Amino acid sequence: MDHFHLKGGVLHCEDVPLPAIAEAVGTPVYVYSAATMRRHARVFREALAGLDDPLVAYAVKANPNAAVLAVLRDEGLGADVVSGGEYRRARAAGIAPEKIVFSGVGKTAEEMRLVLDGGLCQFNLESVEEAEMLSAVASNMGRTAPVAFRVNPDVEAGSHAKISTGAAHNKFGIPIGEAVAAYARARSLPGLDPQGVAVHIGSQLTSLAPLESAFRKVGELIADLRKAGHDIVKADLGGGLGIPYDPEAPLPPSPELYGRMVADVTADWNVRLIFEPGRLIVGNAGVLLTEVIRVKPGATDPFVIVDAAMNDLMRPSLYDAWHAIDAVTPKGTHMTANVVGPVCETGDTFATAREMDGARAGDLLVFRTAGAYAATMASTYNSRPLTPEVMVDGGRWAVVRERQDVESLIRADRIPDWLA
Ligand SMILES: *Cc1c(COP(=O)(O)O)cnc(C)c1O
Repeated sequence: MDHFHLKGGVLHCEDVPLPAIAEAVGTPVYVYSAATMRRHARVFREALAGLDDPLVAYAVKANPNAAVLAVLRDEGLGADVVSGGEYRRARAAGIAPEKIVFSGVGKTAEEMRLVLDGGLCQFNLESVEEAEMLSAVASNMGRTAPVAFRVNPDVEAGSHAKISTGAAHNKFGIPIGEAVAAYARARSLPGLDPQGVAVHIGSQLTSLAPLESAFRKVGELIADLRKAGHDIVKADLGGGLGIPYDPEAPLPPSPELYGRMVADVTADWNVRLIFEPGRLIVGNAGVLLTEVIRVKPGATDPFVIVDAAMNDLMRPSLYDAWHAIDAVTPKGTHMTANVVGPVCETGDTFATAREMDGARAGDLLVFRTAGAYAATMASTYNSRPLTPEVMVDGGRWAVVRERQDVESLIRADRIPDWLA
């Protein structure tokens, strides 16, 4: 469900026609719908309504824009952060420290100090080595860090290999079979309060089965840990629920079904549950608006060359991801085309042999479902400045990140004296 619809033959974001944004800001530009984000936050919370005071900690890495964080803060969401930078963004957006979870496999001592100083809900630790470092850092500061271990349940998430995280060969978490020993070690260390268990098996999951299997293993672990004398009061079930990208593909499980499964599996856990949805909240709340530069004949199908490229939206080149491509003012014509950007790589391909609206030079197109893992992954490859972001809220809209200018790219470099 999103708020991008044709009205009078023109694609709108909520009440704002997309051509008006293209004209004012230029293209390419990301456009976000605040109403869609709010809706998804509410749908997810409603799906968890039967649980006792769950914490929904939005995975900031999906879209860290300050305006996005402000919308979600007002919906009562917390934050799941994976770096000191994300922690600072979440705090700058006014998210309360007790709603922030710190995840990530490579936390540094400096990041640990920053977050201990500012406060948090819990650290999700990913190794005994990390626990030892945090113990030293926390003791030095005279603090006690609330911690969980992220366990690796060894399940295949069934998602793209680059975004699957819960198999034994992945870098994430501690093997679940070694967890009891890891908690014993953590309890023996000063400055740590082992009080939770965490799991996150991957992203864009389109089946509940691997999630359920991982959660059942976590339930068994909680029982084992309690037998060993640990006071486990929180369980973080991560994120990962998939969203529809291709309208022809089967729909991923709904938040409602997910919520029912969680309620069933966790019924006797007696913990506070934490969730870390990212894509589910913001994925369908964004589009990348682009203009066709020209259409060039191809060996089989023509190339529609647009002014957005792989540096702006990496998902197709990185994950072979599929994004729906629609005309902003469809004329009722259709074509089969390859949609590509201007970057000098064959990887700069958004779609191959795609059945799509007829497109000509100067037309506006959107890549849909570009609210998550999109603007935040952009680079300046080919000296293309970072794309601006716009947020729409009803009939209002605002630039929430300015277009970078090439001057600032050039100025950031330094020429050493001996070359000047
Ligand atoms: C990326 C990530 C998430 C969010 O995943 P989504 O698929 O966007 O819901 C949650 N938790 C952790 C630890 C992550 O790394």
